Amino acid sequence: MKLKTAKAVMWVLFAIFCVLILLMVLTKSAPFGYAAIVTIIVYGIINVAFWRCPNCGKCIGGIWLGKYNHCRYCGEEIKP
Ligand SMILES: [Zn+2]
Repeated sequence: MKLKTAKAVMWVLFAIFCVLILLMVLTKSAPFGYAAIVTIIVYGIINVAFWRCPNCGKCIGGIWLGKYNHCRYCGEEIKP
């Protein structure tokens, strides 16, 4: 999976997570909470598995690059 794809998938999962949490709060129903937990676990797996520096292969961390567009470990510029 390419960085760009991984980033897009993670944003989608994060959006779904937010919606599920909102639904759980609004409807006070636990299944939405469980679905949210599953979503965030999938998010974590994709983050660890695919969201890596193309140069050194270390995990970049959050998808909120912004302030650090460079790899924390080797300084490689990240261009998702
Ligand atoms: Zn790196």
